[in-house]
Amino acid sequence: MTNTIAIVGGGISGTLTVLNCIKQSKSPLHIIWFDAKNQFCKGLAYSTTDEQHLLNVSANNMSIFVDEPNHFVNWLTQYYPQYSSHNFAPRKLFGEYVQATFDVLKNTNPLISIQQIAEEIIDIKKKNNAFELKTTQTYYAQKLVLALGNFLPAHPRSISREFIESENYFQNAFHPTIIQQAITQKNITIIGSGLTMIDVLISLHHHSFSGKINIISPHAYIPQSHTENPLPSVKPFIEEHKIYTLIELLSIVNQQLKKAKKEYLNPHSVIDVMRPHLQFIWMNFSLNEKQQFLRHLRHKWGVARHRAPSESMAIFKRLESSRMINLIKGRVNDIKTIESCFEIYFSDSKIGQQSFKTEFIINCTGPESDYLKISSVLVQNLVKNGIFAPDSIHYGINAAKNGEISPNLYCHWTTSKRYFMGKHCSARNQASSKGISG
Ligand SMILES: Cc1cc2nc3c(=O)[nH]c(=O)nc-3n(C[C@H](O)[C@H](O)[C@H](O)COP(=O)(O)OP(=O)(O)OC[C@H]3O[C@@H](n4cnc5c(N)ncnc54)[C@H](O)[C@@H]3O)c2cc1C
Repeated sequence: MTNTIAIVGGGISGTLTVLNCIKQSKSPLHIIWFDAKNQFCKGLAYSTTDEQHLLNVSANNMSIFVDEPNHFVNWLTQYYPQYSSHNFAPRKLFGEYVQATFDVLKNTNPLISIQQIAEEIIDIKKKNNAFELKTTQTYYAQKLVLALGNFLPAHPRSISREFIESENYFQNAFHPTIIQQAITQKNITIIGSGLTMIDVLISLHHHSFSGKINIISPHAYIPQSHTENPLPSVKPFIEEHKIYTLIELLSIVNQQLKKAKKEYLNPHSVIDVMRPHLQFIWMNFSLNEKQQFLRHLRHKWGVARHRAPSESMAIFKRLESSRMINLIKGRVNDIKTIESCFEIYFSDSKIGQQSFKTEFIINCTGPESDYLKISSVLVQNLVKNGIFAPDSIHYGINAAKNGEISPNLYCHWTTSKRYFMGKHCSARNQASSKGISG
């Protein structure tokens, strides 16, 4: 009998699940693969058409196959030889690479049949021993993989319907018309100062935006640049499978950072040598430690962990030195719509409550991770139907380390956040898609 597996999500996570099924399956398997936006193989991150949106990980670390680390570099050498293994290639090319790899492999296992369906799943129920998936039609599968990706960020606090519905507010920083609309403005505001903000700045710059750009975030941290010709790395200092408390870990990291400074070693390597151990450490923190971490250290950690290519940060510096950027430290408390513009009220412990006016707002605060607050109809139905539940800290959903939620139901790391602090995307996804086909 042919088993059917349903995969919801066409991004890297869904694609890797399909590729692993093709590579590993030894019995007949029918795959029904859904993507609401018809972005199979690329998903949100690699569907960009802007050549200036670069990978934030060098090519030698972006292979989609953990056991073939040069897979992406070899592809680049064949089709885009201007990029070498240490370059940060355009994300668009990575999407092309994943698509090309899928096209090569899709017909290589005669036991596998694949049906790609560009429809949004709006509901899933468990019926007898199968999952019933609903779009405008109904599909059935014995196994189900949720590879839903990142959801849109939460709206800023105390927000009125009028603001949310305004055509000058974008909750989705990757909306196809956003840059065309933004460049006609004189004063725009980006809420959030991480890597998404850098993508938006790059697109504005390449479309010759000449107005003022306010960037506001609670700490006003901006991403660090990847170092070119980096200094030597620190030696590995984390013991494998040792359970660290948050306090212990902080103290060790601080010591290592001091050591790196004193001995002229690469401070970024302090984080990099920890990456293989981070998932284990995170999963062994107590509930209280996880909450403390998210409350007090998340922003600092994000800056230490996510770096941008130096070419991308050079654009930030150029705009900053031409005084186009106004970097504001503060938490947005309210936004009022006044005629054709917005007044943003924000506060900071040092300066108290203040406000400023702006014409256009882009939300770059990062994906919503609390599954009780996500507006996706499917997610709401999955929670309502008891198919999955948020985890104890409301940061992703409750799933085992291998992504298993319940028998025959799996999710990927972007959904479970189990790899919250871990490796680059392909390795994480590869890790969480292995074994699903079995
Ligand atoms: C802008 C950006 C840049 C990044 N750059 C890098 C990088 O350079 N290097 C790196 O290692 N990582 C990077 N990342 C992180 C990582 O690559 C991405 O998060 C990764 O691509 C996530 O893949 P995914 O398949 O889990 O999710 P997505 O790519 O978001 O795919 C999820 C898919 O699921 C579909 N979907 C959702 N709900 C439904 C539904 N109900 N029915 C049907 N389909 C549905 C969506 O349409 C979407 O196409 C980046 C992330 C972003 C957002």
